Amino acid sequence: MNELHLPDDDSTQQLGISTLAVHAGESHLKPGNAITDPIFCASTYTFPDTQSVIDFIEQKLPREEYGRYGNPSEKIVERKLAALDGGEDALLYASGMAAIVGLLMTKLNAGDEVIFFDECYHRSREFCTKHLARFGVTTRQVKACDYDAMEAAITPATKLLVSESPTNPHLSVVDLERFAEIGRRRGVETLIDATLGTPYNLRPIAAGVDYVLHSATKYLAGHNDLLAGVLVGGKEQLEPVRKLRGIMGAINSPHNIYLLLRGLKTFELRMERHNQNGLAVAQFLANHPRIERVFYPGLPSHPYHEVAQRTMRGFGGLVTFLVKDADWRATARVVDAARIPRIGPSLGGVESLIEQPLVMSYYECSVEDRQRFGIPDNMIRLACGIENTEDLIADLKQALAS
Ligand SMILES: *Cc1c(COP(=O)(O)O)cnc(C)c1O
Repeated sequence: MNELHLPDDDSTQQLGISTLAVHAGESHLKPGNAITDPIFCASTYTFPDTQSVIDFIEQKLPREEYGRYGNPSEKIVERKLAALDGGEDALLYASGMAAIVGLLMTKLNAGDEVIFFDECYHRSREFCTKHLARFGVTTRQVKACDYDAMEAAITPATKLLVSESPTNPHLSVVDLERFAEIGRRRGVETLIDATLGTPYNLRPIAAGVDYVLHSATKYLAGHNDLLAGVLVGGKEQLEPVRKLRGIMGAINSPHNIYLLLRGLKTFELRMERHNQNGLAVAQFLANHPRIERVFYPGLPSHPYHEVAQRTMRGFGGLVTFLVKDADWRATARVVDAARIPRIGPSLGGVESLIEQPLVMSYYECSVEDRQRFGIPDNMIRLACGIENTEDLIADLKQALAS
């Protein structure tokens, strides 16, 4: 077997996540007999003669042509990511946002409607309400995980149902089968942004969802050193999306793709620690007298704990919590007192990151909008990295004592 993952190769279905993360999509024989894949720094690819050009155009000769349409490293990562999510095909982008924009721009026409669960990445929301609106696309938002409201909002013009799972920063968990079933029954395609879920913890394709999106910047790459995005779905459904990507040019660089490929090798090992740290930190905070509330789907107190147990293998590294009786300044003092987590947006990397959503993402929002989005002044979001669990907890203990 020269290549582990082929789209029609059923044997990959039985392999574990780490085996796929290390081997899927790669040739066993690589240039120079090297064990690793090279970085192809080419903007263009040359042909030996005119007939080869014609054969390529007539799709008789699969190969590269020009960097905007793809490069060999990108195809390896795409096959690997498709295998990890159990999808037919994957499309790599320069960022998670480029991936979601690429899908929406391909699938929606003037007059169409898209429905979102309202707990969503603020830039996705902004793209729809500010920019898709300019092209005559209507965005409807319904309360997260209100399946009846989502179904009631469907009209003949509805083309796509969108949600994240878990959501950010409240970590609400979508019942994927129910979500996918509404789409199937009503003839509307479905998209899950599973960035926080990851292919380790969440299996949207198996639940019947059409498209899965990841900001690969987060857990998939995992080292806080690159941006990337990926869309996973059916080959035929993604074909027009791939064509538009080639026009928009939202592709990643060969150097970044190499880092992503390298980062993916340890994906499962990292996820095990992220899950362990997330759960331990959430349990520690839930029992701490200075904490008003913890949002973590692995805690029985979380409103979506039952759905999470049913749909997730682990609950991830992100923990959101409210500091009891704290105004925004007292909350900021807790953030500033933490020594291990660095202050910054993002999540899913080996380094823990901490932030106060009010300041980091919603500073320019009105008080009413923050209330509507459920972002109180005393909220902290901690993205646990892969540091040792007891060190993270000891650090939080001292930060909360300060
Ligand atoms: C970060 C993130 C995005 C955007 O991804 P980028 O790689 O930063 O463009 C989209 N959705 C979710 C849930 C995210 O966390």
